Amino acid sequence: MQVAHPSTLQSSASLAGMNKSVLRRMDQRGPRYTSYPTADRFTSDFAVTDYLHAVSDRRSMSAWRALSLYLHIPFCDTICYYCACNKIVTKNRAKAALYLSYLKREISMQGSLFSGMNQVEQLHFGGGTPTYLSDEQMSDLMDHIRHCFTLAPDHVGEYSIEIDPRTVSVERVHKLRQQGFNRISLGVQDFDPEVQLAVNRVQSEEQTLEIIRAARDAGFRSVSIDLIYGLPKQNVMSMSRTLAKVIAASPDRIAVYNYAHMPQLFKTQRQIKEEDLPSADSKLDMLSLCIRQLTSAGYVYIGMDHFAKPTDDLAIAQQQGRLHRNFQGYSTHSETDLVACGVSAISAVGGSYSQNEKTLDDYYARLENSTLPIARGIQLGMDDVLRRLIIQRLMCNFELSINSLEIAYPIVFREYFASEMEKLKQLEEDGLIKIEPEWITVEPKGRLLIRNICMVFDRYLNQEREKAASQNKDAPQRYSQTV
Ligand code: SF4
Repeated sequence: MQVAHPSTLQSSASLAGMNKSVLRRMDQRGPRYTSYPTADRFTSDFAVTDYLHAVSDRRSMSAWRALSLYLHIPFCDTICYYCACNKIVTKNRAKAALYLSYLKREISMQGSLFSGMNQVEQLHFGGGTPTYLSDEQMSDLMDHIRHCFTLAPDHVGEYSIEIDPRTVSVERVHKLRQQGFNRISLGVQDFDPEVQLAVNRVQSEEQTLEIIRAARDAGFRSVSIDLIYGLPKQNVMSMSRTLAKVIAASPDRIAVYNYAHMPQLFKTQRQIKEEDLPSADSKLDMLSLCIRQLTSAGYVYIGMDHFAKPTDDLAIAQQQGRLHRNFQGYSTHSETDLVACGVSAISAVGGSYSQNEKTLDDYYARLENSTLPIARGIQLGMDDVLRRLIIQRLMCNFELSINSLEIAYPIVFREYFASEMEKLKQLEEDGLIKIEPEWITVEPKGRLLIRNICMVFDRYLNQEREKAASQNKDAPQRYSQTV
């Protein structure tokens, strides 16, 4: 149920006037909520049969929707020290050929399962580096996908691919457009040579700009650039120079991610020298700068770490209350089930999440046995679905209609969420949200801290923290800092 509220899109320029002391207090570890419950709550109790039930429920209830398809290509040529993705660094291209043979098996199985309800409106290739595949391998894979699923026409569907500008030529970009992709996302991170050296990702400015020009010439509908703040050797001045160059290149979307330094979890991050990392204060200054510089240049602050031109589908979808959040971040197609293929990929069908095996050996072994390679997942209960909706609304629309939730669910909001309302009061005192009888609205200042606001509604996280506190222990440190 969608109820419009006049304050949905306020000027994001005021975000730059953040209160640093509130930011420091809020700088905790927390999930990014690409799903709720978050992936760390999945268990092996959820098996292939549960996934099959979720799909057959869709079919029997005639409740099927257009699909989003995600393909995970885990390979990379070289390692970027900051990376926390699930990837395999190898120069042995034969590994990709073997992987593709299994990936195609999985796609065939999913295609048969969704037979008759397999219209795809959204396709995303992520990794790793999807362009690790050769032209021929990509053409073959796209043909196979078209054989197993029905892809909506180009002007309807959103077909995107993440590319590493170091791995593609101008000709390759044109080829990707011919293969059916209409959105492209480029990893840049930072243009500063010293920063690039410190993270082992040397990528010339000219290389990146050439690929952006090629994408425009080839007719890509949207070009997106990924940056990171908080990397070693970065400072406000270098960040400002990078932002100016990115703005001059005029991409449709810009994502500015917060670097999460967790060397205890991600081995490659141990290559980064701690003394080269910017201080917490300097990170806040960089974040503030990003917001100021990008909004002054005319970009709309979508939320979390995303900016878009006002004419971009993401900004329009947000204005119309159609924005959605999934494992790829913000998305314009809200009512889709997500079918994800590839090692470690996560699907979301109906009220379920399921994740594939995380190692190539296990992934291959399951497919050898002709079973879907699902290793774990979760079936959502009513409370999960309700909290997922609340977190989605807050993340995408920055507001919550209490009325519409009470109509859709058998609850009295203020009773059901009595303890959450207590916590929200503190956030209201901090100027991050406004609580009215019918609405909870995220104030412009609160948009930056939207993860903290959503964390109030995360039942699993709160139970875990309460348990840790009762045992005088720290809660597990598996999430990144929220700021
Ligand atoms: S950042 Fe991208 S290219 Fe670099 S190692 Fe990670 S997945 Fe590979």
